[in-house]
Amino acid sequence: MTISPSYQPPHRLPTRCPASNISTLIVGAGVGGLMAGLECWRKGHSVRIIERSPVRLTSGDGVTIGHSAIRALDHWPDMAEENERIGYDFMYSWHKITGEKLTEKARFQLNAGKTQGPGIEPAEQPPKVYRHSRPKFHLMLCRQLEKLGLEIEYGKRVMEYFEDPELQKAGVVVEDGERIEADVVLAADGIGSKSARVTIAMADPVVRERFHVLPGGIPSAEIWIGAGVNAVFTVSQDEFSWVLIHPDAEDSSESWSQLVDPSKALETMATIPGWPEIADRVIGLTPKDKLYDFKLIWREPQPDWVSSGGLIVQIGDAAHPMLPTSGNGATQAMEDAISLAACLQVAGKENVQWATRVHNKLRFERVTCLQKLGIINHQSRHRSNNPSPSQARIIGLTAAWIWEHDPERYAVEKYSAALAYLREGSAFQNTNIPRGYVYRPWTIDGLLSAKEEGQVLEMDWEEGPVSNSRL
Ligand SMILES: Cc1cc2nc3c(=O)[nH]c(=O)nc-3n(C[C@H](O)[C@H](O)[C@H](O)COP(=O)(O)OP(=O)(O)OC[C@H]3O[C@@H](n4cnc5c(N)ncnc54)[C@H](O)[C@@H]3O)c2cc1C
Repeated sequence: MTISPSYQPPHRLPTRCPASNISTLIVGAGVGGLMAGLECWRKGHSVRIIERSPVRLTSGDGVTIGHSAIRALDHWPDMAEENERIGYDFMYSWHKITGEKLTEKARFQLNAGKTQGPGIEPAEQPPKVYRHSRPKFHLMLCRQLEKLGLEIEYGKRVMEYFEDPELQKAGVVVEDGERIEADVVLAADGIGSKSARVTIAMADPVVRERFHVLPGGIPSAEIWIGAGVNAVFTVSQDEFSWVLIHPDAEDSSESWSQLVDPSKALETMATIPGWPEIADRVIGLTPKDKLYDFKLIWREPQPDWVSSGGLIVQIGDAAHPMLPTSGNGATQAMEDAISLAACLQVAGKENVQWATRVHNKLRFERVTCLQKLGIINHQSRHRSNNPSPSQARIIGLTAAWIWEHDPERYAVEKYSAALAYLREGSAFQNTNIPRGYVYRPWTIDGLLSAKEEGQVLEMDWEEGPVSNSRL
């Protein structure tokens, strides 16, 4: 038999659950929307995805995808394989904002599983912490959808959401006036505001000497911290990217596609004492069509993601925007997708409005901890231009309650108890949150005032700070 070079092995698809007869309409083809499309398909729901951009958006640099979301790929053999190929496990070091080294390069150390104890098998540690090029990860999800025969409908900007609980239908109105209906609408339309990010090719030998992959081809990153600013430089086999978080120049916007001239970034950085020449060199080398400027706007946590009739539900950034320092924006968007698809399946077509509410109940407390973590990590990095080595840590991010979680299993196991809580007021306790954590409403203003009063923000839960620094 001759195999032509264009031969593609047959796709390996997951076993699809029996048809639920639930139609889902997903607004937004970001990581959250795409994963929702895949998981809703797997759970037997019908899927339609619309996206405002006229074409696939391929900007973005690196995102971390946590084990709690990666484990869902076990159902998707093609993606599991591709994920191993495109995801990388990097080593990183901490630096002052002048570039001076604070710690040696080290790998992420995840905390031991919380299920450890006499007679209990320890939870299996993930083989690595996956860092991804967002465009590649996004493309992988798009390709998997294509293999299912699902097409993303581009150029459809949603202007309005509506629902009719009596008819048990929800829907959207698109810019050209078209009305699209479904049994449930997933608003995965994000917020689009995180930080200034770029991707550049490594051409300059001086830059290459400082920022390079480690022996064995291991990707590496440097995290620089200073008063009000932090920068991350990441280099893998085929990409170099850098991110700079700095005080607002008041002319950035909440868009993932606003370009900025590198000379503008150089002007901003010239105001930072000790900002070294090597970093200016990196900025100067950045192609003009590759440097994006995003406004990073903090939003209050909001507990309600579901419309009054229960047929429209926000997921991902639309529900819970996070700072990049949470390291969890994409992971939590994927967890939402997995959880919601599972809740819809357990609930069945007659109970869609309860599926969305149960999903909300199961997810809010977990996600708000991670929003807070982003603020605490942000504050810890931005404290001074002469940071102590104790600041060279990613607070809480490696905790077992984050990586151990299985959102699909959790949704299936907890569905009935959460429903009883919502309908009858029975007792219910989430267990996908830090040990001993009791949610108390908090606001960004409250945290910022505490910070201004000189308080060091720490997590108000048991699994305390973890240091990754090796001095
Ligand atoms: C182009 C792009 C680049 C990004 N780059 C990075 C990055 O470098 N690093 C990082 O950490 N995070 C990045 N993010 C954000 C990150 O992917 C998300 O924070 C995270 O994955 C959560 O995803 P989400 O699906 O909830 O939201 P998003 O990824 O923001 O996706 C939302 C989607 O909804 C679409 N949309 C918005 N409004 C409408 C509307 N009215 N009608 C129809 N569609 C609409 C948007 O075009 C977008 O495709 C990027 C997001 C985008 C869209």
